[in-house]
Amino acid sequence: MKFETKAIHVGQGADPTTGATIVPVYQTSTYTQEDVGVHKGFDYSRTANPTRKALEDCLASLENAPYGLAFASGVAATDATLKLLSAGDHVVVSDDVYGGTYRLFERVLARYGISFNWVDATDLGNVDRAIQPNTKLIWSETPTNPLLKLVDIAGLAEVARKHGVLLAIDNTFASPYLQTPLDLGADIVVHSTTKYIGGHSDVVGGFFATRSEELYQTVKFHQNSMGAVPGPMDAWLTLRGIKTLALRMRQHCANAERIARFLADHPAIEAVYYPGLESHPQHELAKRQMRGFGGMVSFVTKGGLEPARAIARSLKLFSLAESLGGVESLTCHPVTMTHGAIPKEIREARGVTDGLLRLSVGIEDGDDLLADLEQALAKAQILTAAR
Ligand SMILES: *Cc1c(COP(=O)(O)O)cnc(C)c1O
Repeated sequence: MKFETKAIHVGQGADPTTGATIVPVYQTSTYTQEDVGVHKGFDYSRTANPTRKALEDCLASLENAPYGLAFASGVAATDATLKLLSAGDHVVVSDDVYGGTYRLFERVLARYGISFNWVDATDLGNVDRAIQPNTKLIWSETPTNPLLKLVDIAGLAEVARKHGVLLAIDNTFASPYLQTPLDLGADIVVHSTTKYIGGHSDVVGGFFATRSEELYQTVKFHQNSMGAVPGPMDAWLTLRGIKTLALRMRQHCANAERIARFLADHPAIEAVYYPGLESHPQHELAKRQMRGFGGMVSFVTKGGLEPARAIARSLKLFSLAESLGGVESLTCHPVTMTHGAIPKEIREARGVTDGLLRLSVGIEDGDDLLADLEQALAKAQILTAAR
C-alpha cells in the first residue's frame, strides 16, 4: 500500500460493534471484562485505548515501522525514549535540536546521571569522535531549527552501527511523507505530532516508532509506567489530521519553494535557508535523503533587528507565533522567541542573528502568501532607507 492509502486505511477498519466508518472516540477509562481474566485486549486506557491504537497502527505504517506508540506530547515521547538509558550512560546529540529537547536532556535527565555531548552533526566525524565507551545513543534532528541544516541519517546510522549504539531521529520537521529515517538505518523515530502530522494547530501529541520488538516492548512499558498517554479525543484529532498529510505536505513544499526563491532574489534579504535551493550547502543530501524539501523557510534581513521586526509586524497572513506545521502560515523571530534563553555570543556563533526570521509556510494560496511578503518587505525597506 502507498502512503496516501495507508494514511486513510491502516488501523481504521469499520468499528466492529456498530459499523461506524470512522474510528470512534472511545472516551472511556475502563472496559467491562467478559469473565474473570477475559477481555478483548483493553482493560484500562492508560495501558491501551482503541482510538489511540488506530493512531498508533496508522502512523507506524507511515514510518514503515511495525511498532509505534502515541504520547501526550513530543517531549513525552522523547522522555520515554531516553529512559532506555540508565545512570552512567552517555548520549551524543546534534547541537541544533529543539529547545525543549535541550531542556529535558540537560536540566532534567542530567540529574539522573545521563550525560550529553553536543556536536555539530553535519560533520559525521564530530559524532564519531564524541562516542565514549559508555555511549548508548545518538540523537539528532534533520532538518534542524531554525537554520534548516541537514544531518546525513544513513551516515549517522553507519557511525552508530560501528560503535554498537542506537540512533534516534526526531523527524518532526520533515514528517514521514518527506523522510523515513528507519529506511535509512535509524533504530528509532520520534515525532512531535503537534506539528505537520496533526497539522491543524489544535492538538499536542508525540510519537515513537521502531522496527525492534525489544525496544518497542521496553518503551511501551515506560509509557504505561510513566503515563504520558494522549486522551482519546487527542488521538482522534491527530488521526484525522493524518488523512490529509500527503496533500498538505505537497502544498507546504510548493508554497515554501516559491517563497524561498522569491526571497533569494530580493534586495532586502541577506541570506535564505531552504534545503530545496541549489545554494543550500546540503542540497545534494536533501535530494538523496528527502522526497521533498519541506514547508520551513528561514531568512536573514539586511540591517538586522529593526527590518526583521518591521516585516514580522507588517505580515498579515503570517501570524507571529511559535510552533509550526499547521495549515496556516506563521512567522517566528527566533532571537526574541524560541532562542531567547541562549546567550548572544553562542546563538550568533550558530548563525541565529537578530535579522533572522523563520517562516512556517502554510497551505494558503501561494500568490496571496507572496503578495503578503512583498508588501511587508517593502515596508521594511522604507524603514531601512529612512535611517
Ligand atoms: C515541537 C517540537 C518538539 C516537542 O514537541 P511537543 O509536542 O511540543 O512536546 C520536539 N522536536 C521538535 C523538532 C519540535 O518542533
